[in-house]
Amino acid sequence: MTPNAVPAYSLYGEPALRNARPAYMAEGAKPAPPGGMPYEGHTRCMANEGTCQGHRAKGTDYCMGHLRQIAKEVKERDIESV
Ligand SMILES: [Zn+2]
Repeated sequence: MTPNAVPAYSLYGEPALRNARPAYMAEGAKPAPPGGMPYEGHTRCMANEGTCQGHRAKGTDYCMGHLRQIAKEVKERDIESV
């Protein structure tokens, strides 16, 4: 930085983004959740070899429907094994 250095935007009068607000200040915007944004790469249920079109329940690999089904199967298995 030299004493004569000027911000690039000053050459054009005023900052181009002078009136722009950062995205996080946009109306209706919410702060990012703790831990960053959730992974959005694969949000479909893993059941039926990934053919289920159900949306994954948060923090799981399955949709709510299959989670219930799996929970039921596990429960039945436990009962049988007792
Ligand atoms: Zn499913």
